[in-house]
Amino acid sequence: MKIPFLEIDKINQLYEPQLTNAVTDVLHSNQIVLGQNVQKFEHDFAKYCGTKYCIGVGSGLDALLITIAAYKQLGFFDDDDEIIVPSNTYFASVLGVTKNNLVPVFVEPDEFTFNINPDLIEEKITHRTKAILVVHLYGQTAQMNKILETAQKFNLKIIEDGAQAHGVVYQDKKVGNLGDACAFSFYPTKNLGAIGEAGAITTNDNKLAQTIKTFRNYGKDVSGEVVFDGFNSRLDEIQASILNVKLKYLDLNNQKRLRIANRYLKEIINEKIILPQNNGDKSHNWHLFVVKCLKRDELQNYLLQNGIQTVVHYSVLPIKMKIFEKYFDLDYEITEKIQNEVLSLPLNIALNDVQIDYIIKIVNEF
Ligand SMILES: *Cc1c(COP(=O)(O)O)cnc(C)c1O
Repeated sequence: MKIPFLEIDKINQLYEPQLTNAVTDVLHSNQIVLGQNVQKFEHDFAKYCGTKYCIGVGSGLDALLITIAAYKQLGFFDDDDEIIVPSNTYFASVLGVTKNNLVPVFVEPDEFTFNINPDLIEEKITHRTKAILVVHLYGQTAQMNKILETAQKFNLKIIEDGAQAHGVVYQDKKVGNLGDACAFSFYPTKNLGAIGEAGAITTNDNKLAQTIKTFRNYGKDVSGEVVFDGFNSRLDEIQASILNVKLKYLDLNNQKRLRIANRYLKEIINEKIILPQNNGDKSHNWHLFVVKCLKRDELQNYLLQNGIQTVVHYSVLPIKMKIFEKYFDLDYEITEKIQNEVLSLPLNIALNDVQIDYIIKIVNEF
């Protein structure tokens, strides 16, 4: 049996008639940029997250870039100010900071949840620290209570990177509504994925929302005047039409993922493999199912020989990248340990029970 890590075509084919109709509607529309599909998606996704505003942009990275740029424009951040970032994350999170001429200050993760260790944040705070960038890695929420407490104590903004955590709930609130602003990606492989590039920002802050809207549209305000130099990063109407179809299935699909994750958690029994920790069914959307193994490379090869494709998230971490080198201030031991041990097993809504049975059997025989 051959099981690819992810078959995006199979997932999209589940919705083919609806997606085709959605795209055809755009083809027949006279408003191809910032039209009714974008409007509908922004309205519905804000409602879904429980926020007042959602602004659609071109990608997840743009969502981060524009959020931070908007805070600079509003006078909250300045060049060379510091933002706390997790050392264990996809590097795009960090680019959002550095491309705005701010300084990322890396904080190590908790070894078991993979997310930023809230107890290590305070010692990194200086008079230049302005925000904490929280990444809900692999789809599991970070420990927000402690992080919110720290943010309040030092008057810091909390920017969520929700790129992997669509629909995840933390103590009755959804990701997107746990801080001051949240950057989402709808890259095709995410739990809510477009068929190309797309992203969005959610917030309850009216001023921030208006500034972001101006930023994504060249810096043009509602009257049409260009008030600062912005970007062209408007959510595409075709991508919005796709997202409008898929948003309806997000909760159901997260449920399907949970069902598979629960099977793995229960049925993978192998002392060489450490299963991911999970703080409750709603706090994780299982964007990735990441196990740890001291013989990770051996495990990966073995699985591949048995037809199961796996991925290391992430084979290149920001703390290993030359472009960020000047920001490193310590050894990131836990991050490196994690990086050497992690392996993501296939987990997606296109997997059937026979494939899941097979994955469990093969993993247990390692
Ligand atoms: C995917 C991802 C991004 C970047 O999103 P793009 O849409 O690819 O630009 C940022 N942060 C995290 C955590 C991601 O997983």
